[in-house]
Amino acid sequence: MVRLLLVGPPGAGKGTQAVRLAETFGIPAISTGDIFRANVRDETPLGIEAKSYMDRGAYVPNELTNALVADRLTHADCVPGFLLDGYPRTLDQVDALDEMLAASNQALDVVVELVADPEVVIERIRLRALEQGRADDTDDVVRARLEVYTAETAPLIDIYARRGILVSVDGIGEVAEVTDRIVSALAERGIGGV
Ligand code: ADP
Repeated sequence: MVRLLLVGPPGAGKGTQAVRLAETFGIPAISTGDIFRANVRDETPLGIEAKSYMDRGAYVPNELTNALVADRLTHADCVPGFLLDGYPRTLDQVDALDEMLAASNQALDVVVELVADPEVVIERIRLRALEQGRADDTDDVVRARLEVYTAETAPLIDIYARRGILVSVDGIGEVAEVTDRIVSALAERGIGGV
């Protein structure tokens, strides 16, 4: 069983790496951003509420996000483990996740920080905006997301570092190259793929 978490600024490549790592480890990639976007698309009550926050680059309230993840982690595909992408992002979410996992005698094994320079991520997101047209990939909203990340999520890195489970990996380079770096860093921690 392997429980992983990917953290890093918007545009660091978390989503791309999450899909590849999930495949390697035979675990589901759980992206709160993707789940919110699917709900926005389907105009569910959750989506309608989340959209107002996402459109301005703000975080969706913790209660909503925590409940969503708590439910998702009960699905059968999480039995071999999971890779969380984009959750937790706040101190409140760190506590909530700790409690969810402790309730079934679990804990995170490794937190992978994808390190990427803000200048680089802004350029990447500009490209993604052209390719995918994500509603929150406009320059103003991207700047807001980076600010929220720095204020609310970057401090989480210290918390996991103090727990001794943080691995920082350079997120700049070819996609496959970055995946290899992460897989090697995990192997050094005794976590191997299937
Ligand atoms: P990025 O990492 O590029 O910002 P995501 O797809 O992970 O992209 O997230 C998009 C948006 O979804 C966020 O700006 C936020 O509004 C919402 N969101 C995703 N995950 C969370 C979370 N854990 N807590 C609060 N809001 C979230």
